[in-house]
Amino acid sequence: MGLREYRKKRDFDATTEPRGGGRARRIFVVQLHHASHRHYDFRLELDGVLKSWAIPKGPSLDPSVKRLAVEVEDHPVAYADFEGDIAQGNYGAGHVDTFDRGVWEPVGAPREALRDGELKFTLNGDILRGSWVLVRTRGYGSKPSWLLIKHRDAFAAAIDADAFVDPATDRPISRAKRRAVWKNLAVPSTQAKPREAVRAKASKSRTTARRSVTR
Ligand code: MN
Repeated sequence: MGLREYRKKRDFDATTEPRGGGRARRIFVVQLHHASHRHYDFRLELDGVLKSWAIPKGPSLDPSVKRLAVEVEDHPVAYADFEGDIAQGNYGAGHVDTFDRGVWEPVGAPREALRDGELKFTLNGDILRGSWVLVRTRGYGSKPSWLLIKHRDAFAAAIDADAFVDPATDRPISRAKRRAVWKNLAVPSTQAKPREAVRAKASKSRTTARRSVTR
């Protein structure tokens, strides 16, 4: 809105002047929440709040997997730093861990995209990276349903969020163990189901590209 005239006067394919930006980058956070129903909370900072979705199965890095994301109430930005226990008897009682965090960038105008039910964006976290989309499927009331989908790019992989959670404790694994997850992805396991092995092989070059970016 504020930069409309600035942009109208310029052809950004022909000039190296910035199209926008320069403000503090927007944060995103994903929290693993052991409430009455285990779920992941996916939050994107916009206009001074965290737009929030509850994702029962958690984000998948596999572009062929769509994950239900139920829109919930906006949370304060400070909630991105919340970890620990919500005491019994309170709303959402249970343990909250930070699963991933970083910065995000919308593709196009985010408010209009949310209104229209299709928000494309990039994530730059430790686990979730690259291009994603949230698509609203139904409901315009208090809890509309969306789908969170990974786009095909160098950061896609045939795994989901639970690959980064310790099955014994149900807590997110350490950074060192995350590296092992990425490393294993580059080499198809003989124990993998045939379909997964093919996928892992197909994504080998992309995974290699990813790791070269993160190092
Ligand atoms: Mn929650």
